[in-house]
Amino acid sequence: EFVLYHDQYVRKEDAAIDMEDRGYNFGDGIYEVVFVYSGKSFAMNEHFERFISSAAKLEMQLPFDAPRFVELTEGLIEKNSLRDGMVYVQMTRGASPRNHLYERDMKCLVTGFTREMKPPEQLHQDGIRVYLTDDIRWLRCDIKSLNLLGNTMAKRQAADHNCQEAILHRDGTCTEGSSSNLYIVKDSVLQTHPANNLILNGITRQAILKIAHEKGIEVKEEPFTVKDLAAADEVFISSTTMEVTPVIQAAGQLDAEYQIGSITRSLQNGLKKKIYGSEFI
Ligand code: PLP
Repeated sequence: EFVLYHDQYVRKEDAAIDMEDRGYNFGDGIYEVVFVYSGKSFAMNEHFERFISSAAKLEMQLPFDAPRFVELTEGLIEKNSLRDGMVYVQMTRGASPRNHLYERDMKCLVTGFTREMKPPEQLHQDGIRVYLTDDIRWLRCDIKSLNLLGNTMAKRQAADHNCQEAILHRDGTCTEGSSSNLYIVKDSVLQTHPANNLILNGITRQAILKIAHEKGIEVKEEPFTVKDLAAADEVFISSTTMEVTPVIQAAGQLDAEYQIGSITRSLQNGLKKKIYGSEFI
């Protein structure tokens, strides 16, 4: 098994990280996760456009341009003969004597690995339970940064309550999931939080909104409340791994049950069509 280390493919056991890498000490870095279906990556360019935008927001120096990042990542998929699974690429600000203050001209370190996995088709079909809790994260959730404690703590809480995902609210306004975007449908209108500093603008989210427009589904990119969530006709989440996954029950700060609706199914099928091409039935 090979990993990406800067622009080289090395054996996993031969790759070493400096004890004072800022990613290790401060979580000073960014990442992307891209899914691979039958050896073909989905939305790779879009993922690296976002990666480059995250880097710019953190004043990180890019060692490669977007096409080179894509090339290196595709190369890793090929090197590991990955058929179905995910590829993870991250970039930290690199190593220097530990100091909160970062220099703008640091040599960033790019690393990546692949993992074999199948999309969770059963969950796509049957839906999941979600756990509603407070969004305790920082105010730059638009950056896909390595700092994920607010997300991981919420996910643990959800799992402890037999839920597959945590969904988050800030003072009663629903933002997103711990590793997904969140949507409601009310009276045939699809609603999701606007892409601002409070959420990550998912690549899957962007694809879903496009599909909704193509299908003539009315879309509101406006914040909605926990009350709106409680009264929704349909609820679903989206992410690279979860695609469109229906929500059938909410626990935690909300106790609700939902039917899997026609708009959720229609968007789910629309996304699968984009992923699998004309082969999808
Ligand atoms: N929101 C958060 C906090 C995430 O971590 C993720 C992905 O992991 C998403 C949304 C969905 O983003 P994408 O569709 O690009 O995977």
